Amino acid sequence: MPVTVPHMGNLAIPLKAMLEYVGLEVVLPPPCTKRTLSLGTQNSPEFACLPLKINLGNYIEARELGADTILMAGGLGPCRFGYYAQIQREILQDLGIDMKMVVLEPPDASIKDFLDDIRILANGQSWLTIIKAIQLAWYKAKAIDMVDIKLEETRPRQNHWSDADKIFDRFLRQVDQLNEKTDIYRAAERAVDEMSALPQDWHYEPIKIAIVGEIYTVLENFVNLGLEKHLGRMGVEAKRSIYLSEWINDHIFKGVLPLKSNKTLRKLASPYLNYFVGGHGWETVGSAVEAARDGADGVIQVAPLTCMPEIVAQAILPEISKDRNIPIMTLYVDEQTGEAGLVTRLEAFVDMIRRRKFIQEVSSK
Ligand code: SF4
Repeated sequence: MPVTVPHMGNLAIPLKAMLEYVGLEVVLPPPCTKRTLSLGTQNSPEFACLPLKINLGNYIEARELGADTILMAGGLGPCRFGYYAQIQREILQDLGIDMKMVVLEPPDASIKDFLDDIRILANGQSWLTIIKAIQLAWYKAKAIDMVDIKLEETRPRQNHWSDADKIFDRFLRQVDQLNEKTDIYRAAERAVDEMSALPQDWHYEPIKIAIVGEIYTVLENFVNLGLEKHLGRMGVEAKRSIYLSEWINDHIFKGVLPLKSNKTLRKLASPYLNYFVGGHGWETVGSAVEAARDGADGVIQVAPLTCMPEIVAQAILPEISKDRNIPIMTLYVDEQTGEAGLVTRLEAFVDMIRRRKFIQEVSSK
């Protein structure tokens, strides 16, 4: 039963480790490309969310490599995520692609159901094995975030464009192969040290932009067209509102670990938004407030076109921008979005922030 999982940023690395630990064969889809997008788009309803289309492309490509079972998360709340699995199952059936779909109940809804699902998938392995498998996935997610945060800091300061990204890509290949906690953290520390040792301008003070919005578009580089890399190339430090380990802590460990949690962001969202609107809409509002509080120079909201929770958040962001005196831009992406258009919008936004900062500095002297 070769199992596959869809891509969302680097999430496949810890997931693969967890599934292999409980004895499953894992066949990952190739990294997302235009072909993935095209397979998903051709076979999905036009107005389906972009992540549904790309994940469908992932499944078709994983099937070509021999996967016969899909593991995916179920959804809850007022947005379309709850229908994903059913729609994708029916599309695959219509295409004559015979794949079993295992939908994990959202852990936020019932942690017991979530763990039971994992246990059934793991052919009744002991709870100890399952806990160790989840631990291994956690170490990998934490290590990836540690290096990812360093990457965000290094990009705008390095002298040779892409040096830090090369180190990060090499680290991802390494961490995928490692299975001991100490080896995983040692590899992460080595990658961080290598980035620190790169020739760079330590006196350069980059402008800081927070990236907030729908989690899939925030985490998946292919979908956001390399947003963070483009900002880094423009000398901007991009700071993501959510990292893999924080997502795991919130949704699987119920926020018990001492990391930033969605509870904090939801509190910060008040009084602008006081209830769950699906997806990450509530957190998007809280993240924008957090960015202003922490001294970011601007905020970029990124989301798939027609994403309902993010449309709700977008309607609130101008008020936050006015109250907190921080520029906020929204970027919607879909299969028609071109990289050149995105770069032009980013350049205009970054130029505006630089000019604004300059005027503020001059007038405060
Ligand atoms: S959060 Fe947005 S993109 Fe994700 S399923 Fe809901 S509506 Fe679609």
